[in-house]
Amino acid sequence: MKQCIFCRISAHEAPAQIIWEDDDIMVFHDISPQAPQHILIIPKQHLENLDDMQPNQQPLLGKMLFIAKEQAKKLGLKDKGYRLVINTGREGGQAVYHLHMHLLGGRPLRWPPG
Ligand code: AMP
Ligand code: ZN
Repeated sequence: MKQCIFCRISAHEAPAQIIWEDDDIMVFHDISPQAPQHILIIPKQHLENLDDMQPNQQPLLGKMLFIAKEQAKKLGLKDKGYRLVINTGREGGQAVYHLHMHLLGGRPLRWPPG
């Protein structure tokens, strides 16, 4: 998936403000932040979205959630609170078709979302 921007970021072929990575997962700043803290957690493996996930990939999503809460703590959001979002498909507002989890925080977030 050489044309996929998040595949290119995870392969260090496109620029990003990388915060953390290991063999499976990368965390980087969103290029267009919607809150004072807005980062993305992605699997390095290309999956289109949550709907593309197979049963054997369940541990990967668990790991993404764990890393998200660790990053939230590092960003000082543990006590204030934060939001995790996975936009999925057209009506879910997905723009980049490589699975990613948004971590947003640093201001009160409204509910319900638009
Ligand atoms: P979504 O609507 O959930 O698909 O969101 C895609 C997110 O990726 C948006 O918040 C974009 O600002 C962000 N994004 C797109 N391209 C880049 C990039 N090259 N580096 C960092 N974030 C990006
Ligand atoms: Zn990709």
